[in-house]
Formats: sequence, structure tokens, C-alpha cells
Amino acid sequence: MDRVIKRSKELYEKAQLLMPAGVNSPVRAFRAVGGDPLFIQRAQGAHLWDADGNRYIDYVCSWGPMILGHRHPEVVEAIEKALARGTSFGAPTDLEVELAELIVERMPSVEMVRMVNSGTEATMSAIRLARGVTGRDRVIKFEGCYHGHADGLLVKAGSGAMTFGIPDSGGVPKAYAELTMTLPYNDIEAFRKAMDQWGKEVACVIVEPVAGNAGVIPPRPGFLQALREETKRAGALLIFDEVITGFRIAPGGAQQLYNVMPDITCLGKIVGGGLPVGAYGGPRSIMENVAPLGPVYQAGTLSGNPLAMAAGIATLRVLGRPGVYEELEDKARKLEKAFKEGAQEAGVPIWQNRVGSMLSTFFTEKEVWDYASAKTSDTARYARFFREMLSRGVYLAPSQFEAAFVSLAHSEEDLETTREAIRSAMKELP
Ligand SMILES: *Cc1c(COP(=O)(O)O)cnc(C)c1O
Repeated sequence: MDRVIKRSKELYEKAQLLMPAGVNSPVRAFRAVGGDPLFIQRAQGAHLWDADGNRYIDYVCSWGPMILGHRHPEVVEAIEKALARGTSFGAPTDLEVELAELIVERMPSVEMVRMVNSGTEATMSAIRLARGVTGRDRVIKFEGCYHGHADGLLVKAGSGAMTFGIPDSGGVPKAYAELTMTLPYNDIEAFRKAMDQWGKEVACVIVEPVAGNAGVIPPRPGFLQALREETKRAGALLIFDEVITGFRIAPGGAQQLYNVMPDITCLGKIVGGGLPVGAYGGPRSIMENVAPLGPVYQAGTLSGNPLAMAAGIATLRVLGRPGVYEELEDKARKLEKAFKEGAQEAGVPIWQNRVGSMLSTFFTEKEVWDYASAKTSDTARYARFFREMLSRGVYLAPSQFEAAFVSLAHSEEDLETTREAIRSAMKELP
């Protein structure tokens, strides 16, 4: 339990002089939980080792991609094979065809796909495509949903009901943010009202079909169906941002699990097997609008990168084997139970949401079903819990409003160790 953290601190000090807050993505700086971030030296299976050699059971899983665990032998082998052929050609390869085929086979609404380099690129391009197809400018999104950091998606609700938005970040033009309307997640009535008023001007509605960036929040019965019906009626497109849910909660993502078909699907994270990839796809009739077939321009020097394609292919192949999703479900259920029992025993009120192998334990008594209810969580208590768990060798997300991800590499022993850590950490909470 006595972990020496020395090298991480040294690296962090130097990093802060060289990079904003010493990190390349804000949440990594641990600002939401206090303390200094750990610098990671290496990973294997379900475990991470920090720069001082301390070992952790990893439930961040690189924010989702590592669904097989770190350095899965088949993924490593695929990357090495690709590496031997060259790292980038700026020309098409067989690997792109193979990954595209796997995606099209698995995702029910996708007939054609375009590879990009990140989830942000996927959502940004999907929105451009929706605007190009409909000839409309307005976009509807939902509170607490994160779709990457493109300008038009860093928008919060405007003041007053049903107004278009205001920037949620410096550097986003007001005029641009005004094209995005933000509505409460899971609120069918508010959505129908907004569509009655604005539907004919809306290019697309973008949603995380299971919210994963305000903590895990499943869609209420009828919510996704309402999005489908109303967009169809208004001639707007429905975009499912399945960057987290794609290949995680079912082989064919949320669209398969809930049986609601979007017009455009955004993918990332798992589809790259731990290397930088995103993708967007949909029916042929929509994807034929993408350049050079159609007028909607989108390109990328490293798009379809052979190493990334190889990692994605190997990952999807393993995920295609029988019993994989049942195993993930079983492990995640055990983790969920461990949180529940640990909290109960310590008398700590919590609310849990889980869909397959993504789950969140919110430190609140309230049911969490939208952003506002998620925000009732005691984030100071989460921060304390996070640090208690870290000191017991369990690496959770450094924010209350993120998911815990379970991988195939988490063993019964890992889950048992985690259960014990939760029991004792819960007892330390104020
Ligand atoms: C992570 C994420 C993104 C952004 O993906 P990046 O690869 O980080 O750009 C978009 N949408 C959702 C739902 C995500 O979780």
C-alpha cells in the first residue's frame, strides 16, 4: 500500500513547462480529483505500471479502446506484421478494405464507411455530411453528451428554453455556436417540442445512444425511437455517436442493442484497437455524398493508416468470437455488484448505471438519467474515493463523470482484488 511516487512527479514538473498542464488531453491532469497525474510506463492485460513501477488494475482502458486489455497478443502480432510492410503510404491498402468490411458486417445501419484519425474527426465530418445532404445548417445535441472538440459541438444550452446555443469554450465563434441547440438528454417531450418549432431547419440530431461522458446514462425507453421518428418526419438526419458504444455494448453497438437505425454512425476508440482511428458510415445513398463521389469534402494524410487498421482488424476479429460479450457482461456485473455491496456496507449512498461493460457509480441518492441528475453527485466524495482506490492499486477514471470500462483481460482475481479495495475505500469516505 506504500506506493512511492517520485518519477511521476519529476516528469509532471518538467511536462508542465513544456505542455499546457503537462498533458495532451485535459482530463489526464487529474484536476477533477486533485493530486498529480501518474505517468504510465507500460501496460499488460488489465494492468498498468506507473513510472515508479507501481502496478494498477486499469478500469480506464485508455477511455474505452482497450476492450481486449493491453497488448493482446493478436493485436501486437497484427501491428508488427503491418509495421514490417511500412507505416504509411498515402495510398489505399488491403487492410482498409478488410476493416471496412468488418465494420459493415457488424453495424446494422452501415453500408459504406470512411476512415479518419479520431472520434472528433468522425463527428465533425458526419455533421458536415448531414449539412451537405440536407442543405440545412442547424444541429441539435444533448446536454452532457460529448462528441469530441469540434467547434460546433462545444456548445452549451442558450439561456431560456429552446434557444440556440452559446460557446462552451474560448475560441468558438458565437455565430457558429448559435447553429447548435442543446436539449436535455432523455427528455422526449422537450425534443418533440423543439422539432415542432425548428425541425425543418435542422440538418441533424447527434446523440450518444448511451451517454458515456456524463458518466454512463442509458437511454430511457422510447427516447431513441422518438429521435428516429421526429428526424425522419422533419427530413433531418439522425447521427449516433457510437465512438464509445460501438463494438462495446453489443457487436453492432447501440443501434443493434436498442434496434434503432441512425442515418450516420460515428466510430472511434475500439475500432482502432488502441491506435488513433475514427470512422463514420451509413447507407450508400448518404455516403455517396462524400468526396470524391459527392460534394462534401473530407480528407486525411494518415487516414486508413496501416498500423491502425491492423490493430482495429485484430480487435474486431477477437470480438467476433462466440461468448465474448457474455464474458464482458459477466465481469462487469461482478464489478457493479462490488461497488453496490461496498457502498451498502459502508452506508454510502450511490446510484449505478451500467450497460454491458461500461458502468458508472455516482455518489448521489438520486436516479441519474440526465446531465442535471448526474450533477447532483458529490464530486468531492468521488475525488476522495478515487484517491483511496489509487492507493490500493486500482486505477479508476479521474472524474466522477466518466465510465469505468471492463475488458476481457480483467481476471477473477483482478475483480476480487478490486472488490476488496472498494470495500475498504468506501469505509474511508466522509
Ligand atoms: C472519445 C469520444 C469522442 C472523441 O473521440 P477522440 O478520438 O477523443 O477525438 C467523440 N464522441 C464520444 C462519444 C467519445 O466518447
